[in-house]
Parts: sequence; C-alpha cells; structure tokens
Amino acid sequence: MQRECDKYLHLNHESCKLNQAESAVATFFESRGLSVERLCARWLSEKGLSPDFRMSRDNQPLFLCEVKLIWSSTAALPEGDWHYNNTEEYRRLIEESEKQKVPLLALPDQIALWKGEIPYPAEGRNTKQKERGYEEKIKQILNKLPVALLPLEVTLHRHDPFIWRDEEIQAFVIDLVEKLELIGSGQIPHDWYCDFGTYSGHYRQPRDHGRFIHNFIRVQKRGDHLVLNSISHLGINWQKIEKDCREAQRQIRFRLYQEHGGQDLARVVVLFIEEDLIYEYLPDLDKLKDQIKRHIQTKSPDLSAVAFCNPIVSDLANLRFIVFHLAQEHTLSLPKSIFDNGVSIQIDL
Ligand SMILES: [Zn+2]
Repeated sequence: MQRECDKYLHLNHESCKLNQAESAVATFFESRGLSVERLCARWLSEKGLSPDFRMSRDNQPLFLCEVKLIWSSTAALPEGDWHYNNTEEYRRLIEESEKQKVPLLALPDQIALWKGEIPYPAEGRNTKQKERGYEEKIKQILNKLPVALLPLEVTLHRHDPFIWRDEEIQAFVIDLVEKLELIGSGQIPHDWYCDFGTYSGHYRQPRDHGRFIHNFIRVQKRGDHLVLNSISHLGINWQKIEKDCREAQRQIRFRLYQEHGGQDLARVVVLFIEEDLIYEYLPDLDKLKDQIKRHIQTKSPDLSAVAFCNPIVSDLANLRFIVFHLAQEHTLSLPKSIFDNGVSIQIDL
C-alpha cells in the first residue's frame, strides 16, 4: 500500500492512521489485484476533505473509496419510516389484491394503521440498549420462580419496534413460565412444535392501536438450570446510513474537484454494519432495494456503488460484501469484477 502521507513529512498524521475496518478494506482490494493508496486526511490544510483510498489498476486511477463503521446500525423505525412503511405495505397489498381479483382482507385496526390514522407511539423508539434492560427484567423475575431450576436453555427472538412496558413483560413471563413447566414435564405446549429436541413457539400479543408484541421462542433441554438469551431484531437504522453516505459523498466530491480536474473516477463507499442486510430483508429483497434507493441513491446521487460488510475481520481476503451498483446519470460505474470474489453479492439498482 502506498501512503500519500509520505509526501507531507512535516505534518502530523495522527488522523491518517488506519482503523481495523480500513485495514480490512485495503487488504481486500489488494487481494483483488488493485494498487491501494491511503489518502492523507491533511493533504490540503485543515479544511480539505478526503476519502480514505484511491484504487488504481495498471497505474490508472479507477475509483475513490471511503470506509465507514456504523455502530448504531440497529434501532427501531423512526416516525417517518414507520409511516412510509405502513403506507407502502397498504399500496402493495391493494395492488396484489387487484391483480388477483380478490378483496383485500384486513382487520379495521390494520387498515387504520396503513392509512396513517394511528399515531406513532409517544414513548418513541425501541433500541438495543432498551432490549438489554428488558432481558435483565425477565431474568430477574424468572430467577425467583421454581422454573429457574429446570435444565432448559431459552432463546428469545424479539421483533418489536416499540417500547416493551413493564406490565407487558409481566404478562409475557407468566405465559413463558407456563410453557416451560409443560416442557419440563415432557409435554409440548399447545401451538408449539418440537423438532430434534428443540421446542419452538410464538408469542404474539395485540396491544393498543393495531400494534403487536411479537416474540419467537426456542427452548432446548440443556445444562443444569434455566438460561435465557435474548436476541432482538429491530431493523436497520437507515437514518444513520443515509447520513454517513452523504458525508462520504462530500469527502469524495471535494477531492475529485480539487485534484482530478475534469477527470472523473468511480465513487465507492464501504459500510461496516452489525446486521446482515440480506438476512434482515430475506423475505422481501425488493424492500431492501427500495431502502437503498430512498436513502442512498436519491440522497447521494454521486455514488457509483455502496458495499455493505459485516464487521468480521478474521479472514480479510474473503470478506463478504453486499454491493449495490447505483446507476447514476453523471457518475462512472464501477467494474463488477472488483468485488467478484465468489462470496460477495452484487445487485444493480
Ligand atoms: Zn496524512
């Protein structure tokens, strides 16, 4: 890897040091046969913006690349997205029912939700931090009960974008204890199933205004006392991703205008996030494309591609990217071969 900082030896390059994600990206692109140049953050005084890397092939600069680490990539939907999702779902279902020539079946509550007649909850959004608190509360209640002695491992999957109130947690635990006692005595709870020793069931509880608490529970006979793990699936924090992409666009744009004169290069952002986007959107990849269009393509119209990666940095050459190629009117496209390492997924928008 070349380092632009070497050209400015008299400057302090503390802010140019590579973090773990940037090192991973540099190693990956070198393994793809590109020459990687680390760009200096101080190249043009204090005010000069710059992305992290310039990638070249055969001495020809190919693209500029900015790397972002997004630590708060998980949070429940903010109000705007919540309303948008609800109306989108409605539009889609209407379309589908017209196509199939069947009436739209829905509860009055659901229809009110889709039409935007139900307000966003005043308590605000759920977060991973709050989920940790809920898990603690459940453990404390369980630990005081006889079920704490059962040799069971319970995994709770939470899909709840809203605040879980104390009385709702209490009601859930009462239901859970009933199920665990049945399993402990060798029975399968009603509406649950048992597959190769794993018991699974859903807890779906309506709350006011057409919203639901939705928990998925798995139980295995294991260990010598009750163990509870909680996993929350809150959805992707698109607001944060949007903001980081815009900032990356600004950094790349500044450098290109200042330095490359009329010459344009492809512009790439690599985002490390905690959640696996494909897993998150597995049932509906169109929805994922829709989010990329809304939050990245329209808000950062300069970018050629965005590549998402989970922060696993053990096997650098085999990083798995989910790359979105953004067809933009005035921007060069990125050759697909660059990410073609056999494990990455590439999607055209
Ligand atoms: Zn530097």
